[in-house]
Amino acid sequence: MSSSASSKTIFDQAIVLRGQKLGDADKIVILLTRNHGIVHAVAKGARKTTSKFGGRLEPFMLVDVSLTAGKDLYTLTQVQTVRAYTSPIMSDYSAYLAGLALIELTESLGKFEEGESSNQLFVMLAGALSSLSSQRLRPLDIVNAYFLRAISLAGWGMNPTVCSHCGSSENLRWFSAEAGLLCENCGRLEVLNVSKPVSEETLHYLSDVFLGRWESVTAISSQHSAKIAYGLISTFVHWQLEKPLKSLALIEKEF
Ligand SMILES: [Zn+2]
Repeated sequence: MSSSASSKTIFDQAIVLRGQKLGDADKIVILLTRNHGIVHAVAKGARKTTSKFGGRLEPFMLVDVSLTAGKDLYTLTQVQTVRAYTSPIMSDYSAYLAGLALIELTESLGKFEEGESSNQLFVMLAGALSSLSSQRLRPLDIVNAYFLRAISLAGWGMNPTVCSHCGSSENLRWFSAEAGLLCENCGRLEVLNVSKPVSEETLHYLSDVFLGRWESVTAISSQHSAKIAYGLISTFVHWQLEKPLKSLALIEKEF
């Protein structure tokens, strides 16, 4: 059998995270696929003006792809638009910054390989991009919701409805960069590096965005509680990743 006949082609849905230049005319595209986790794929000729891929490989695009497995990288053979989120997101600076943060976190959670967790992350990111592009929700609320859900899927904790140390859903009170949210009792344990108490209002906001109670988020929460919650989430994410996300510094300036 020839090598081309034996090479494996996969069909999947994907969200374009970003692209990197390759050679004179090609591009490596980083995709979050629905069933195969994060995939790096070569798009041949993608930087030529006459490219068959057109604008379909821009960040935030939701596409159907055909990929051929190579030795190190996949090669993109076909791309079809499912949802064109790029221009609505890029046309609003706040939405664009929020979108960058979603993408950077997604790529950092690259341990998602295949199967159900990849599918869940894909569905969450597609939902967040849809909300950003339709401007249904404030960009900062979308960032907070996506970050909480994605890191929870990754098993990092910071579930705003339970104490990350003892699992109790009662009397949540403290935030620790190391452990996430803690109840009144666990916050007093000296082994945990408690940094600050969390207000009732912030806790409400965190569980509302985590659980998707959007009516409650838009009705009662101020931009102020969204900012405080964002500060806690980004502190926690930095601690877990052991490196800052570049896009979060931009958000801190803008929002
Ligand atoms: Zn506890």
